[in-house]
Amino acid sequence: MSAFDLTGKTAIVTGANTGLGQAIAEALATAGADIVAVGRTPPVDTRFAVEALGRRFHDISADLSTMEPIGRIVAETVQHFGGIDILVNNAGIIRRNDAVDFTEDDWDTVMDVNLKTTFFLTQAVGRRMIEQGRGGKIVNIASMLSYQGGIRVPSYAASKSGLAGITKALANEWAAKGINVNAIAPGYFSTNNTTALRADEDRSRDILARIPAGRWGTPADIGGAAVFLSSSAADYVHGTLLAVDGGWLGR
Ligand code: NAP
Repeated sequence: MSAFDLTGKTAIVTGANTGLGQAIAEALATAGADIVAVGRTPPVDTRFAVEALGRRFHDISADLSTMEPIGRIVAETVQHFGGIDILVNNAGIIRRNDAVDFTEDDWDTVMDVNLKTTFFLTQAVGRRMIEQGRGGKIVNIASMLSYQGGIRVPSYAASKSGLAGITKALANEWAAKGINVNAIAPGYFSTNNTTALRADEDRSRDILARIPAGRWGTPADIGGAAVFLSSSAADYVHGTLLAVDGGWLGR
């Protein structure tokens, strides 16, 4: 089990107050990591769960639709825990509308959170990891729409396809520095992100019918992949998208 042990590591997880980010923070803490949670909403339950596991927890209030918080996320993490070993870029949003009615705001807001801030936060953390000289792990939360077009979510599909590109581009640059940049591509999970989809009876039924596992994912299904890609077990894994999708892509 030692290859998966994260004892003594510091992990930044964005959007860790709920859904997949919360499950990822808890899984990393279970494997031994201290957690820095970054987001707009106070991560009360996540703090409780991480501290109950005996790990240290720090939360940074930040709106990731702007570049403003990037510098202080790195500075505060270093100040509290002395360095950064793992970054999980999980915060993300979705806007649903027909392409012909899609607004500039629906485009910009999604691209800013899912792609622009994600890239520049990763750049800032990558600089710090290079300076530290002990490598690091970056895990981007991609999507089935890193491979597919989806329905009525063009900016989301563009952002998640772009995130797949950034994952590979940064892996190419940083692999030789001992920094692993990879992504998890979740299938269809029951979280706030999919509330509208699950409320639409036709779409919900069609989606379920295509999932070989026969059920939607639950946040707990994502933790193992996050621990793996954050650990030394993944030291030779670079630029990959690991689908955690109940078999959706294989269908
Ligand atoms: P979620 O419950 O809606 O969580 C999204 C998280 O992102 C929340 O913590 C949210 O914080 C945070 N966030 C959004 N905008 C932010 C901003 N401007 N600044 C800071 N934090 C912000 O949905 P989820 O499913 O867990 O989503 C997590 C990631 O998984 C996203 O990147 C999503 O695209 C991806 N994903 C989800 C699915 C799925 O089926 N659920 C599938 C594929 C990929 P607030 O509470 O403050 O809004």
